[in-house]
Amino acid sequence: MKMKAKNVEGHIEPNYKKNVKYYNTSKLPMKQRFIFTWLIWLLSKVSMGGVKYKVEKINMEGVKPPYILLSNHMYFVDFKLNAFATYPYPVNNVATVDGYYRRPWLMELIGCICKRKFTNDLMLIKSIQHSLKKHKSILCMYPEARYSPAGTTAILPEALGKLIKLSKMPVVVTLHHGNYLRTPFWDKDSPRKVPLYTTMTHILSAEDVQTKSVDEINEIVKNALTYDEYAWQEEQEIRITEDFRARGLHKILYKCPACKAESNMASEGIKLWCKSCGRTWEMTELGRLEVVEEGTATKSAEVEAEVLAQDGEASQRYDFSRVPEWFEWERSEVRKEILAGTYHFEDEVDVFSLPHPAKFIDMGKAKLVHDYDGFKLEGIYNGERYCIKRSAIGMNGLHVEYDYVYVRPEDCIDISTDKDSFYCYPKKNDVITKLSFATEELYRYEKEKLRES
Ligand SMILES: [Zn+2]
Repeated sequence: MKMKAKNVEGHIEPNYKKNVKYYNTSKLPMKQRFIFTWLIWLLSKVSMGGVKYKVEKINMEGVKPPYILLSNHMYFVDFKLNAFATYPYPVNNVATVDGYYRRPWLMELIGCICKRKFTNDLMLIKSIQHSLKKHKSILCMYPEARYSPAGTTAILPEALGKLIKLSKMPVVVTLHHGNYLRTPFWDKDSPRKVPLYTTMTHILSAEDVQTKSVDEINEIVKNALTYDEYAWQEEQEIRITEDFRARGLHKILYKCPACKAESNMASEGIKLWCKSCGRTWEMTELGRLEVVEEGTATKSAEVEAEVLAQDGEASQRYDFSRVPEWFEWERSEVRKEILAGTYHFEDEVDVFSLPHPAKFIDMGKAKLVHDYDGFKLEGIYNGERYCIKRSAIGMNGLHVEYDYVYVRPEDCIDISTDKDSFYCYPKKNDVITKLSFATEELYRYEKEKLRES
């Protein structure tokens, strides 16, 4: 992992005037006492209600803590399934600071390690080593660092391989299926009837970790954490018959592939449509998208050229029957903008900060800019100007939330520094998925530039 990133020039933290105590995220984790391991297991069991699930263990004979557990991340239920998989052993979970909201004492008591998202936190390594070497616990991490937006693997941090190598510990992966289909990030409050299936696989022994290179370790981890929920749905023939199955989909499919209008999509029931050209898709029970209304868009010259370049895969290219393909096409569109030098975002946002998980602080309105310099959040609090800056190379991903549960149920993003987190609610609709792509692609762009030089 990198050294603690120096603050970018011009960065000014808000002046809370001694009214605020910053939460110490570098506290070493406590060992999870068995009573809590048992309680978490019990509460998880009880709260599963009638949901069908199965946890299958592969190559796990004789594997005992300490080890590193890496899990994919689609919804809160992942924690419960991991609790079933790891029981009866103690676990230290790396958890995000808003997970501590109003209950830091409890999170500490059950052995959590606090992290602000997408910051380079050297203390995290210390806490992880403490958990593995001192407590001899299972260290559980969700390296994607947020729920999967389109049911596929998010970008994994390159630093993961180094962290594993440094720990010299075995690595186990829990891969969940069905959790996204049941409660997609973009409409997570109304579960669909989908069975859950988890595999727990021992992928690297301590010896493997010693002998393999960081790159090899990263490759093995990446393969083990690769998933595509829509492919899973088709393979398993999971029919989602709920008549609201497409509701919320416009949050991630924000760009119309026909007329290329952005942030003007809508969804309701089983339909997704473009408000600009009227093109309309229906989501089948097996998760495919089918065009039901052509709409008025005439293909632009640019779209025509792309279609020709696709050698006959035109209709596929144009309509994307699969959600992950549409999603990745949007990413490629953002990348094009970045390479063309035209990417720029700015908006007025409502800001709520979380220096301590005891409470969110209403910071009022501010201006958010995202471009080649990264993020800049500028506002006035307590009569004094503050300016939060995160460079593009300093953030490999962005914490986005659809209908964020804590402050108010609308889309927001979180920009964190080492000691504070700023939850920003944009005024513009349906822009956070694009911001998330742009963060990842700007990071990649900056990395490539560095490599070239
Ligand atoms: Zn359109």
